[in-house]
Amino acid sequence: MKIGLATQMFLALILGCICGLIVSAVGINPAHFKPLGDVFITLIRMVVVPLVFFTLIAGSSSISDLHKLGSIAVKTLIYYVGTTAIAVTIGVIIANVVQPGVGLTISTEGVKALNVNPPSLVKVFMDIIPLNPFDALSKGNMLQVIFFALFVGMACSTLRKELEVVNRVFEGLAEIMLKITSVVMLYAPIGVFALMTFTVGTYGLDVLLPLLKLIVAMFIASVLHVLLCYIPCIRFTGLKIKHFFSVVASPLLIAFSSTSSAAALSSNLQSVQKLGASKPVSTFMIPLGNTINMDGAAIYMGVASVFAAALYGIDLTIDKQLLIIVMAVLASIGSIGVPGAALIMITMVFTQIGIPLEAIAIIAGVDRILDMMRTSLNVLGDATGAVLVSKLEGDFVLPEEEAK
Ligand code: ASP
Repeated sequence: MKIGLATQMFLALILGCICGLIVSAVGINPAHFKPLGDVFITLIRMVVVPLVFFTLIAGSSSISDLHKLGSIAVKTLIYYVGTTAIAVTIGVIIANVVQPGVGLTISTEGVKALNVNPPSLVKVFMDIIPLNPFDALSKGNMLQVIFFALFVGMACSTLRKELEVVNRVFEGLAEIMLKITSVVMLYAPIGVFALMTFTVGTYGLDVLLPLLKLIVAMFIASVLHVLLCYIPCIRFTGLKIKHFFSVVASPLLIAFSSTSSAAALSSNLQSVQKLGASKPVSTFMIPLGNTINMDGAAIYMGVASVFAAALYGIDLTIDKQLLIIVMAVLASIGSIGVPGAALIMITMVFTQIGIPLEAIAIIAGVDRILDMMRTSLNVLGDATGAVLVSKLEGDFVLPEEEAK
């Protein structure tokens, strides 16, 4: 019997939890498992830049009509930024209600704020334009990579007739990167097993319990976001909710267990096309959304910032909460689809608000659990966007069984 990748990863996740508990009970050092997990993370990091770069060029250049490309791009951006802003707002509101940081006994004594100067908003925007695209590619600066890829894609689209061969080369390179990703994913279950064993073996339940409220707040905010944002969008396309989720179950399981949207990219692309999203819309939106549309990361940043501020007794006035929303939207756009990315990007929000960066060390213990939730949401947001924009563009084809 052949077990699909998503199921294999889910099994690996559960086995990793069990193994982690055994390891900590019998006193084996869980760090022995970490290198096996690190191999997976490094492999994903290896593919993410060329994968997003080539699939995005191939996707945007496949839309031969520039007018159509513009129309898809505008709708995509409105959806991506709009849903991300709603996500972080829900996160901040829920965190204010649940108050996950209040009454926590974690000692913050002796922890001092690092002296970091937050970059200005203008600089954050200016940094999206790469001075040298090759430098951006080699450093893995994803926003700059995307910015350049969109230019290349647009140029290829306008020169489609003269340079057909170049367009085909980019399509071929995108196929190659998708193939390499699927080969890397053969190793994913082992990596997930090792990472889970390491996390559970190292942190165990001791870390989990004090931070349970943080996890619960993130969970409530995520469910609310699905109900308020995604379900109405899916309904609008005419798809049945049950059918939608049964088709996206594979990329969601991959995202949940690998905590990497990049790992779920190709499965997500296939799923939305199966659901009826058109090729031009899906090949443009899925690679783009993989990096810039991260609603899960945005919710996490909202919840975690309110949590950390309470931990350090920082009073969050309304203007500071609004600043959290703006910064979290930007930081989530800047996060890439690899495990733990938002934990690093959250420094952008913390420095603007004046939250000590040491708070990150406290959250890190439960980051894997939070990452599972946020990555699933990141991927779900992309899938919902692709079917919605395809519908708005008038090229959505309802699957036969749905049309009946
Ligand atoms: N792990 C997330 C993803 O791949 C990124 C993050 O939120 O850390 O989508």
